[in-house]
Amino acid sequence: MTDSPAVDVLAIAAHRDDVEQTCGGTLLRMASRGLRTAILDLTQGESGTRGSAEERAREAAEAAHLLGVGWRQALDLPDGAIENTLESRLKIVRVLRDLRPRVVILPYWHARHPDHAAVAALGYEACFLSGLANAPVIATAANAPQAPHRPFKIVYASLYADVRPSFIVDITPFIEQRHQALMAYRSQYVNQPAGSGLFVPEEEIRERTFAEARHYGQLAGVRYGEPFVQKEVGLVDDLTLVPVQSI
Ligand SMILES: [Zn+2]
Repeated sequence: MTDSPAVDVLAIAAHRDDVEQTCGGTLLRMASRGLRTAILDLTQGESGTRGSAEERAREAAEAAHLLGVGWRQALDLPDGAIENTLESRLKIVRVLRDLRPRVVILPYWHARHPDHAAVAALGYEACFLSGLANAPVIATAANAPQAPHRPFKIVYASLYADVRPSFIVDITPFIEQRHQALMAYRSQYVNQPAGSGLFVPEEEIRERTFAEARHYGQLAGVRYGEPFVQKEVGLVDDLTLVPVQSI
């Protein structure tokens, strides 16, 4: 998973396992449509209560496989202390120019975890910077020049935000597979003494994540869904094809 093909959808998240929780079903759905998907985790998980960064790397690779994702890497931003700095933006720009995604998924900008909120702004500004022909660059060993690239669309995964979504992605056929991808993080979710007062017991994870997906699915008249916010208004060609029944 180290080659760098152009991708259609890139999910950027603070921590390994964020994507599995907030938009893993959407990535599965996109892959099932033949689209190329990728995940960029910004930290390596060194500050986690459970498991080591090495364990989480192995688990993330397994989860990526289960999500049908063709490319996944982690940057080295500080876990628990992500800041929207030029250096961090430039690290993301390198990836954006390499993968050239049409769509970028970011975490919603209001969040309990400061890293998640930071990534919303950091990711957005990196997408902007990536499109500037004369943006500063990070010198690399290869020093390969990269053409500017700005994603066409940015959407925000809002599962953990108390906000009305702009739209829902129907993940009904993919809910079990998404759950398997989350449970690939055995160091985090298998019952164990470390962090037992902090983590939800293993047997409750399924019930909670399915209940959230059911709630969001119901908003759009499907069984299981994942919510997103977009800053732009929607555009419609044909009123008779607009989904989600009104009455
Ligand atoms: Zn997180």
